[in-house]
Amino acid sequence: MNSTAPVFPKGSPLPKDWFVGDAFLTPLLSPDHNNSYSVGSVWFEKGARTNWHTHPKGQNLLVTEGQGFYQKKGKPAQIIKKGDVIVIPENVEHWHGASAQTEMAHSAITNFEDDSQVTWLQPVSEEEYRTVNDL
Ligand code: MN
Repeated sequence: MNSTAPVFPKGSPLPKDWFVGDAFLTPLLSPDHNNSYSVGSVWFEKGARTNWHTHPKGQNLLVTEGQGFYQKKGKPAQIIKKGDVIVIPENVEHWHGASAQTEMAHSAITNFEDDSQVTWLQPVSEEEYRTVNDL
């Protein structure tokens, strides 16, 4: 067995409307009568990241591969890497993704409020992304 093989498959491409660069999703769990969250594994190629966005009931990230960034609006970006657990509060504008030099994958546990779990906002600009990568 190859111990460096990814935990989950890369999955299917995510829409460019909400992501910059090449990101992929493997859905893992859907909400059911006990659980009001979804779980999905998101793979970010180098340079790929989410748009800025918010979650009405927050989100938890379990980083399973590589290294990247998590940034709350108006705060310094945080380096996140394999094994890290990130707790994102409700209604906090943020993004997450790979670095310019490294791929990153995380499992995202995203709570629902009614039928909503995310509000997508503007892309992370090249300038914003460059600044973070110069850390
Ligand atoms: Mn998020």
